[in-house]
Amino acid sequence: MLAEIIAIGDELTSGQRLDTNSQWLSRELGLLGIPVRYHTTTCDTLEAGVDAFRIAARRVQVVVATGGLGPTADDLTRDVLAELSGKQLILSEQALEVIASRFSVRHAVMPESNRRQALFPEGSCPIQNPDGTAPGIVVSLPASEGWGDGHGCVVYVLPGVPAEMRRMWDETVSDELKKGKASKKVLRHRRLKCFGAGESAIEEMLPGLIERGHDPTVGITAHEATITLRISAWADNLEACKKKIIATEHMIREKLGQLVYGEEDDEVEDAAASAIIAASASLASIETGTAGRVAALFAQAADRRQTGSQPFFCGGLVLPDLPGDKPQLIEAAKDVARSHNASIGLAVGPVRPIGTRQAVDVIVVKDDSVMAIEHILGGGGIAMSRAAKSAIDQVRQMLL
Ligand code: AMP
Ligand code: MG
Repeated sequence: MLAEIIAIGDELTSGQRLDTNSQWLSRELGLLGIPVRYHTTTCDTLEAGVDAFRIAARRVQVVVATGGLGPTADDLTRDVLAELSGKQLILSEQALEVIASRFSVRHAVMPESNRRQALFPEGSCPIQNPDGTAPGIVVSLPASEGWGDGHGCVVYVLPGVPAEMRRMWDETVSDELKKGKASKKVLRHRRLKCFGAGESAIEEMLPGLIERGHDPTVGITAHEATITLRISAWADNLEACKKKIIATEHMIREKLGQLVYGEEDDEVEDAAASAIIAASASLASIETGTAGRVAALFAQAADRRQTGSQPFFCGGLVLPDLPGDKPQLIEAAKDVARSHNASIGLAVGPVRPIGTRQAVDVIVVKDDSVMAIEHILGGGGIAMSRAAKSAIDQVRQMLL
């Protein structure tokens, strides 16, 4: 059984609002063991709506759509469903009563336009909406007409308002899908976080793993130089899922070694903090080329740790200028550690040209050892944040 999600609204296709409903619904369907094959987003015209629903209901067995159930003239989803199923819209007296009562309890008069929300395609069923006036709609399209790739298709339409949509899903739709219509498979994900190599270099280190058809699937994404490997496993039960994930995780960790710094929501600074604490050490920083980002990231990592955990960050100086040559930077790192009673000093020098590019020097000093790297700045507007993470990762590497 496969699913498609349709998000409806001009505000989505014009880029004025982000479609968060599809993301939420995809996760929920995944937890039920129903793979989502497509996300479709459509504007509020009848033609686009009918096209989107027709294509979806032909190729999958479950369509979940949100939006376009309001009372106003631009909310056309019920008309789209009527057209799709070839049925008339019929007024449900029962639904109208429920809608009218929402107004009467507030001593308000129901606007005439709200009558539209009690219209349903003949043969469809309403889905109760405890938080709003718009009921949802369920339409079943028969296998005999080729819907759902010959297996039949059930179309659920919910309101666009995220809170209403979620409650209706939790209280009605997910139960209905659970009751036998969904496959018995379960889906679980695991994320491994890497730093220190690019997306394509990491892919090359994992031959065959990121290819289509690999089970479990391994996806790769990059965000500000942090690489996330996402392992997704389908199996008959949770145990079997975990087993598959662990085996693949083991293989990745073996191939990537220290490039893997953490998992799930871990950031590079969290991993560095753990390494500092594990070494019973503490750190102070001084920076120019990263304009305070190193101190900010360490301060955020300290903030994320539970209160009462060992303090590891003693403070950071942000200077408009620091001497550019290495011996002076080493002195600056030693000085900042000494003045802040820290056992590790981290210094990031000014941005300096190197050929046609730019670089910053990163110095880490601990006891008598000094580690120095020259970090070449990339482009794309994330150069400073990448340099800061790289400096922080240097601390982790030194302590490993
Ligand atoms: P509608 O049900 O189309 O009247 O949508 C009601 C409101 O819900 C819209 O004004 C949006 O603010 C919000 N909304 C609609 N669709 C989505 C979506 N896919 N993701 C997040 N918010 C949405
Ligand atoms: Mg709308």
